Amino acid sequence: MAPRILSALAFAATATAFPGSGSSFNATALFGPHVSSGTLIAAFSDPGFASVVGPRWSTWEAPTYVAAIKPATVSDIQQIVKIAGQHQIPFLATNAGHGAATGYGDVQNALNINLAHFNSVSIDVAASRMTVGGGTKFGDVFDPLFAVGKELQTGNTWCVGVMGATLGGGIGAFQGLHGLVIDSLESVEMVTASGALVKASKTVNSDLFWALRGAGTNFGIVTEATFEVHDYTNSGRVVLGQFSFPPAANVSVYSAVASFDRYIPPELALFVSATFNRTAGESRVNVAVIYFGPVADAQPFLDKFDALGPLAKVVRNLTTPDLFGKVLSTGVCNDGGRQNPYHVGLGRTDVATFSKFFGEFDTFAKAHPSYAAVVVAQRYSNVVMGQTPDTATAYPWRDIKTYLLFSNTYTNNSIEGDVDVASKSWRAMFEATSGFSTPHMYVNYDHGDEGPAAKYGARKLAKLRVLKQIWDPHHLFGTPNPLY
Ligand SMILES: Cc1cc2nc3c(=O)[nH]c(=O)nc-3n(C[C@H](O)[C@H](O)[C@H](O)COP(=O)(O)OP(=O)(O)OC[C@H]3O[C@@H](n4cnc5c(N)ncnc54)[C@H](O)[C@@H]3O)c2cc1C
Repeated sequence: MAPRILSALAFAATATAFPGSGSSFNATALFGPHVSSGTLIAAFSDPGFASVVGPRWSTWEAPTYVAAIKPATVSDIQQIVKIAGQHQIPFLATNAGHGAATGYGDVQNALNINLAHFNSVSIDVAASRMTVGGGTKFGDVFDPLFAVGKELQTGNTWCVGVMGATLGGGIGAFQGLHGLVIDSLESVEMVTASGALVKASKTVNSDLFWALRGAGTNFGIVTEATFEVHDYTNSGRVVLGQFSFPPAANVSVYSAVASFDRYIPPELALFVSATFNRTAGESRVNVAVIYFGPVADAQPFLDKFDALGPLAKVVRNLTTPDLFGKVLSTGVCNDGGRQNPYHVGLGRTDVATFSKFFGEFDTFAKAHPSYAAVVVAQRYSNVVMGQTPDTATAYPWRDIKTYLLFSNTYTNNSIEGDVDVASKSWRAMFEATSGFSTPHMYVNYDHGDEGPAAKYGARKLAKLRVLKQIWDPHHLFGTPNPLY
């Protein structure tokens, strides 16, 4: 059956050059005869391109595409991968478009495979299992799970792709209670480099399943994934306390956070951020206390920060879909900004380093009026995730206690050089007092210059590279976060 064509004239005229392969091609002519009628195809020059290409969160280091294809069926994905491989056409499959690192900028003149049609959710309540399509976002699962009294450890915002996050490990506020997202992943169906549709689980293609859980974007396109889900905690209600402190309080706030280094309850998650308040003309240190339990149990943790003299405080008792889908997603889910992230994984909270950073951040923000960063430290209990042996999955950093993310945003691109210099210096400062002898980087938060050992762990790379040779010998997948 012929594919649906957005603009027949534009397609017919389009022959697109791929500098990488030295060839040119007409996307509709090449893929059209082999895909179903629901598949959309557009060349970059086509007026309908915007409705076929996947969305993109950050304009920084964005991939460039000469054509996009939006497959409708699993068989379409198989055909597209097979044909693209045969013609040496570089491609990137995308879902919610939140990947942001220099590696995305390495995807040039490529074909975008937009997974938006694969956004299905089905829950087997009795078996405590949820199966999602490869184009599902976290926001697609919050309400359906809550409605049946279940929960999954998801990422913290609605707008991120489930599989994009999961294949790198998957972190979030539920991590203390349930571990990484990969720790609940039971099985996947995926299209590999040959175009084959394969299953992977602990018992089927178990080595591939090992690799998927931490380095997964290097091995294929997941079309469907099944997770174990949990009965919801505290009837799905969560306490959120948000506190904002003046600059002078930074040492006492960071010291309070450091007091959780030895032990943090699994029900508790802390977000500690530095922001610059342009109205006040000074920085703020902010704390979010998230507690999955009754208010009375959360109270001691709220009191601990309340006692430090916040300028503002809001305490709410929410449903978890409202926490993740509304409050934590506010201001971070908008597409189209220039977002240039840096990151460090920490094993300890060094108060002197945090305080020095805060002072430098304040100075930098004052000198750069278009700088609108949020530098957030996410502190979760890693006791449950530590119960999964290091050897069980490719994910290398079960010892990270705090994920520190420099979410750098700015409207004036001319400050980019200064942002990079400052961020690299801050990253090195935190690395030096992280408590780790080697850099620990969560692959989904990378900037792109860290190298594979920091993202995948030197001890995991040999096995990952052997598996890469077996499943994707011509490196069709994984350009944004390569194993080499
Ligand atoms: C605002 C924001 C909030 C975030 N919050 C969290 C969080 O709470 N927890 C967390 O762990 N991470 C978080 N991240 C990081 C996030 O996990 C990564 O950016 C992730 O890669 C995004 O996936 P995506 O589908 O949104 O992006 P895309 O850019 O569409 O995809 C990212 C990568 O995943 C691959 N991919 C996507 N879908 C599939 C699939 N079905 N099969 C195979 N490969 C696939 C793509 O090929 C690409 O390499 C956040 C990022 C942002 C920008």
